[in-house]
Amino acid sequence: GERPPVRRFNLNNVTITPDPVQNREAILILTPMARFYQGYWDNLMKLDYPHDLISLGFILPKTKEGNAATAALQAQVTKTQKGPLNNRFRSVVIERQDFDPPIVSQDEGERHKMENQKARRASMSRARNSLLFTTLGVDTSWVLWLDADIIETPPSLIQDLAAHDKPLIVPNCYQRYTDPETGKPAERPYDFNSWQDSPTAQEMAANMGPDDIILEGYREMATYRSLMAYMADQEDERHVEVSLDGVGGTALLVKADVHRDGAMFPPFPFYHLIETEGFAKMAKRLGWSATGLPNYKVYHYNE
Ligand code: GDP
Ligand code: MN
Repeated sequence: GERPPVRRFNLNNVTITPDPVQNREAILILTPMARFYQGYWDNLMKLDYPHDLISLGFILPKTKEGNAATAALQAQVTKTQKGPLNNRFRSVVIERQDFDPPIVSQDEGERHKMENQKARRASMSRARNSLLFTTLGVDTSWVLWLDADIIETPPSLIQDLAAHDKPLIVPNCYQRYTDPETGKPAERPYDFNSWQDSPTAQEMAANMGPDDIILEGYREMATYRSLMAYMADQEDERHVEVSLDGVGGTALLVKADVHRDGAMFPPFPFYHLIETEGFAKMAKRLGWSATGLPNYKVYHYNE
């Protein structure tokens, strides 16, 4: 049969600007998903960036839990894509991993054990990279990494983050809970992977074996890094920026050029860092800096 003519794209025409709605810039929202939470989907639906500019990409493990999550996700996708035009996304891709996750339970206590971190985060890196390299399009301006357990963000998340015009930008990931003492709603920091480096951590790195990694948020490994989790001070100062050396991936906006340059999630120790923290380091080596917004909060599910 006849083959279609060559499609030409000039990447210089793909704009990446602080006003992406005005400039009709395409965004790719990427989510590795081990469990499906309705709160994630409801929040996603409420994002007020034009849905016809949003492509969605998911990757799920081929486990029993992953099968259940895939079915639940598929049901929501079908409902949305057949629903009102305004709600429909531009495209949706659901992928299943072609490799097995390490045998670590998805329950919080088990997955956060220090001895499980290296294998777990290496596997997460591979999932993120597979998803990224199969979905990034020639006309993608932005990539928003959004974990499947982020259940609350401002609806203007994309516009708010993009307005800062930064190569990598990350809000502060918190968790709501009920204070057992007062019985009142409260919140606490959740993600400790967004940080500014410290002399202690650099010295630790200098004395490590080539395959060793530094992990954040473990008492046994005090790094004395400055954690963005603890920098939140004024609710109404959401625009305040800090520079970062490591970033978490619970919610992370990246200019697609950074990924097109080759920055990915190292599944191996890269300067003794892996996954999202290694990604920030790799981006930095490519000349792109990372920024955090300590007072701009998004919320993680409370298991
Ligand atoms: P934590 O919040 O740091 O404990 O990390 P999570 O366990 O929440 O993992 C981060 C993101 O990756 C979440 O969106 C998970 O649903 C997802 N996830 C966790 N494990 C896997 C896995 O083995 N494969 C895939 N594809 N996604 C996973
Ligand atoms: Mn999580």
